[in-house]
Amino acid sequence: MKPVIALVGRPNVGKSTLFNRLTGTRDAIVADFAGLTRDRHYGNGRVGKREVIVIDTGGFEPDAGEGSIYREMAKQTRQAVAESDVVIFVVDARAGLSAQDHDIANYLRRLGKPCVLVANKAEGMTSGAQTVEFFELGLGEVLPVSAAHGQGVRSMLEIALERVPGLPPEDEDEPEAEPGVIRLAVAGRPNVGKSTLINAWLGEERLVAFDMPGTTRDAIKVPFERNGQKFELIDTAGLRRKGKVFEAIEKFSVVKTLQAIENAHVVLLLLDATQGVTDQDAHIAGYILESGRAVVLAINKWDAVDAYQREQIERQIETRLAFLKFASLHLISARKRQGLAPVWKSIAQAHASAMRKMSTPLLTRLLQESVAFQAPPRSGGGRPKMRYAHQGGMNPPVIVIHGNALDRVPDAYTRFLEGRFRKAFDLVGTPLRIEYRTSE
Ligand code: GDP
Ligand code: GDP
Repeated sequence: MKPVIALVGRPNVGKSTLFNRLTGTRDAIVADFAGLTRDRHYGNGRVGKREVIVIDTGGFEPDAGEGSIYREMAKQTRQAVAESDVVIFVVDARAGLSAQDHDIANYLRRLGKPCVLVANKAEGMTSGAQTVEFFELGLGEVLPVSAAHGQGVRSMLEIALERVPGLPPEDEDEPEAEPGVIRLAVAGRPNVGKSTLINAWLGEERLVAFDMPGTTRDAIKVPFERNGQKFELIDTAGLRRKGKVFEAIEKFSVVKTLQAIENAHVVLLLLDATQGVTDQDAHIAGYILESGRAVVLAINKWDAVDAYQREQIERQIETRLAFLKFASLHLISARKRQGLAPVWKSIAQAHASAMRKMSTPLLTRLLQESVAFQAPPRSGGGRPKMRYAHQGGMNPPVIVIHGNALDRVPDAYTRFLEGRFRKAFDLVGTPLRIEYRTSE
């Protein structure tokens, strides 16, 4: 599971600059859940081979009074801190120590969360002057960094990760699930019916075993079997067992959702027919797409909507979730247990598609047939020439096409090829990536 780092500090110390530096400005914001997360941003970062999730927070005043504009920000920041494995507390080396810094330090100390204190904007300052006054905060070592210039950022991250308890060494790959096991995450906003669906399923199926989290780093995984296929259900909603059933007792956690998606083979994205497709649904869907995971869509509470609403939601899915066109769609009622069996079929199909092996000769033949059927259009000086194709990865499948002048292939032609490959290999429910390697 990716470690989670929260950036905390008063306004203007350079948290956003640091966030952009850590996550790479291009795809900085992977999930910005409107409404739920004002002033909170989530991004993927990387230290060496290790990937991390970074949370940016707004300006933090831990003791913001009733009615203060910082009140909501403080709440969001506390939540980000709670969800993180380590906090990077940012202060401003140029502005010096402030009363708010003391408040934040006290808050973090009380919490006992692993924490790294960094003095930002330290470029060009003499090494004593950068940090000396911040020792007073009583958080130990102060690391001078410059978010704007990238100085000290790498070692700051390494030190932060050293403080995450129970993190496996960097070169240790995540243990793969048992072969043949499909890791499934049920994702969706609060109240769409995730617990109801899971209970409906687990009530029917044999529950093999059960893990409860020992530390916050352990995700809940529920192994079970259906029709001889082994599954591992990954916790997304903060599902907890209460007696014989599961219920969502935690508030919606973006971090948990992101981590579960990353850890899954297939994500079942659940929507609520009575609410239509909301911004949050679209955000979660966007993250699933970005992660390259296989996905199955299910619209729950189909029993509770009339014909007009049904038509509306189907149209919304076509427009707002157009980018998930490759996924199969199910209209279900978890409460009435209607339409649930076909969902399993789609999950298995999406998994098989994501793991499909495609041989070089077959890919190359399909490529040549496609080009013969319709050649890539001539552009500029010449016509792109496609020579052969091989598989560059699984989950999601990647097809690498080799040839000349392939940087001139228009998107529409790539989509044409994607359609041909999808059909030939029966790829349903998984993204398919096509990459070009051009020799000139
Ligand atoms: P935030 O409110 O904590 O997110 O702070 P921002 O990232 O928005 O930065 C506040 C201001 O500090 C901006 O004008 C940044 O350009 C500036 N800033 C951020 N990092 C550095 C740095 O490393 N050196 C200097 N000199 N300025 C910085
Ligand atoms: P979660 O937060 O996503 O786990 O959602 P829950 O499973 O707790 O369900 C939220 C509410 O929706 C509960 O009151 C459920 O009884 C209700 N609900 C769940 N599935 C259905 C359904 O298929 N039809 C209807 N009408 N209500 C449902």
